[in-house]
Amino acid sequence: MSAKECDLLVIGGGPAGFWAGLVGAIKGLKTILAEEGPLGGTCLNRGCVPLAVFLNYISALRLVKKLADEGYGVSLKDLTIDAVNMFKSIKSKVVDPLSGSMRDVLENLGVEVINGRALLESGNSARVGSEVIKFKRAVVATGLRWGGINGAMPPTEFTDIDEVPSTVVVIGGNAFGLGIASAFSLLGSEVILVEDGELLSGFDKEIVDYVTLALLERGVRIFTNAKVVNIINKGDIKETHLINPEGELRISSDEVIDASTYVPRNEVFGGVSVRLKGGYVAVDEYLRTSTPNIYAAGDITGNLPYAHVAIVQGIIAGLNASGGNLRINYKAVPKYLYAYPDAFSAGLTEAEAKELGYEVAVARQSLTSNALAKASGSEGIIKIVVDAKYGGILGIHGAGVGISELINEAAILLGLESTSDAVLATFLAHPTVGEVLREALIQVTKS
Ligand SMILES: Cc1cc2nc3c(=O)[nH]c(=O)nc-3n(C[C@H](O)[C@H](O)[C@H](O)COP(=O)(O)OP(=O)(O)OC[C@H]3O[C@@H](n4cnc5c(N)ncnc54)[C@H](O)[C@@H]3O)c2cc1C
Repeated sequence: MSAKECDLLVIGGGPAGFWAGLVGAIKGLKTILAEEGPLGGTCLNRGCVPLAVFLNYISALRLVKKLADEGYGVSLKDLTIDAVNMFKSIKSKVVDPLSGSMRDVLENLGVEVINGRALLESGNSARVGSEVIKFKRAVVATGLRWGGINGAMPPTEFTDIDEVPSTVVVIGGNAFGLGIASAFSLLGSEVILVEDGELLSGFDKEIVDYVTLALLERGVRIFTNAKVVNIINKGDIKETHLINPEGELRISSDEVIDASTYVPRNEVFGGVSVRLKGGYVAVDEYLRTSTPNIYAAGDITGNLPYAHVAIVQGIIAGLNASGGNLRINYKAVPKYLYAYPDAFSAGLTEAEAKELGYEVAVARQSLTSNALAKASGSEGIIKIVVDAKYGGILGIHGAGVGISELINEAAILLGLESTSDAVLATFLAHPTVGEVLREALIQVTKS
């Protein structure tokens, strides 16, 4: 059988693989991308996008209801949400067309997209189904697989439900667990959130407190430092057995979703031995694995499991596999919660800055003083950690409905090592939610 030949083989068509393939083609490499499922990976098909679109739609409906309830001249007879139908529509009208557009983008650039599961057989050859592919360089971006507890459902299946559970246990106080917990609590489910450590590990404490309070006020029950021992099916009911500092507890629910446990999809390396770190594929700052012509990008590298990390890694791996020499710098990676409310933590938290010996000034601002945020019923806070001596911005943290609009400003300001005075002298448009940055930073100006 004759083999296909290419300069660059990309395995996996999620955010990391898509960007690696796109960059390789733009750089003129003959590129093949192998993907066993739909393009877009976990993020587009079963994660960030359907969840964010759903939460956006619900936010929009809540705004319409507020306008009706508070006498803004909007009348609304009956607002009902058929969540099962909404999830199906998001899939068929948003997700599937976007996945198709990704294929068009790649194919228009000359990337050959092959549908099938790839297996590396050596450092320059892979098999996809019955096809053998010889490559000069490869980027592996196969992501993670769910490894949750028996009896639970993966969070990636939330769009496939055929009924909204009246009670649901969500395991995992990370960004995605809280996103799922928010979605179901907005749909009227009674939600019990279980986390074996603290909620939103790595986020600034004030942000965690804000989000925790918002969830508690919406009736979400939260158990932290609680370990799930097992889940027992009792007919239509699931019983979750957990141990927390107060003792043992059994919680009955219609559904249990485990958003806490994932394992890297390393099996793709088949015939190639690469160094692992904690089970994930070890890469250097150029995204090279221990086999120099093979790069890895995205969740499989064990960095923060966010699509925005996967995308940047994919771009850098693609560029380096095309002869570039770029290093990745994780200094300003925002941690991000797409939920209700949203939250993010970018750069140093107040505690981290103090631990590092900075003299810290903190600027805080509530979103309620911002015209557009107030008009849309959005509440929230922004907290900026500044180096009191030189005015450098060390960290930007926020929580509130719609605060996600500020996450890119935060990432850029931190990435460019901006100072508070530089932001104050910048022409931030009015009226915008982003002006809250100016309103906070005026409190700590150096001039
Ligand atoms: C419920 C949920 C919500 C999330 N929300 C957000 C969010 O709001 N913001 C955010 O930044 N991140 C979010 N994430 C995380 C985000 O989805 C991941 O960080 C991102 O998808 C990682 O991209 P990746 O390319 O590394 O892997 P993936 O997106 O998992 O893509 C890997 C691809 O490789 C394919 N593949 C695997 N093995 C093979 C093989 N051998 N051959 C061929 N193909 C293969 C898979 O089919 C898959 O398509 C969320 C995750 C979940 C579960």
